[in-house]
Amino acid sequence: MNKPTSYFKKAYEFLERVTPLRTDCGRLCAGRCCKGDEETGMFLFPGEEELIEKTDGFRVLDCDGNFGYKMVVCSGECNRKTRPLACRIYPYFPMITEDGFDVRADIRGITSCPLLYENRKVSKSFLRQVRKVARLFSQNDELKQYILNVNAMLDDLEDFAERTV
Ligand code: SF4
Ligand code: SF4
Repeated sequence: MNKPTSYFKKAYEFLERVTPLRTDCGRLCAGRCCKGDEETGMFLFPGEEELIEKTDGFRVLDCDGNFGYKMVVCSGECNRKTRPLACRIYPYFPMITEDGFDVRADIRGITSCPLLYENRKVSKSFLRQVRKVARLFSQNDELKQYILNVNAMLDDLEDFAERTV
């Protein structure tokens, strides 16, 4: 089986020309998801650390809550061509289910991302490309397991949110 790192060239290409909205969604919120700090970086997928570490402008840090994988902190500006996968798919996440591949909203962004809390209609081509990442990553055991783990966590967070409404 190929190393997880070898899947990212294709995954990045899938998300090169599509964004959740046809216009720049950063105008809705003054680019809130790019204003992280040492504790709110973007979580890296398995194998991605190797690529991101070599890229100028990024710092890779240990973190909690990412199944033993690291996170990346940036300056708030980046070359779009080198940004990590989490930035390309946010606030959505690939799904692998018994029935196939899908995309879901990432509830971790529900209080900060207007695409979610305003329930914005998202571009079908963007969702299709995130779904293609699910299909691609299902070919690698480590990437597949990571997606399954994050999905189980998102299920728990959604259940908890429903119970506390
Ligand atoms: S927080 Fe949401 S709406 Fe704002 S820039 Fe990020 S993805 Fe777009
Ligand atoms: S890497 Fe780029 S897209 Fe991702 S949070 Fe930083 S500035 Fe935003």
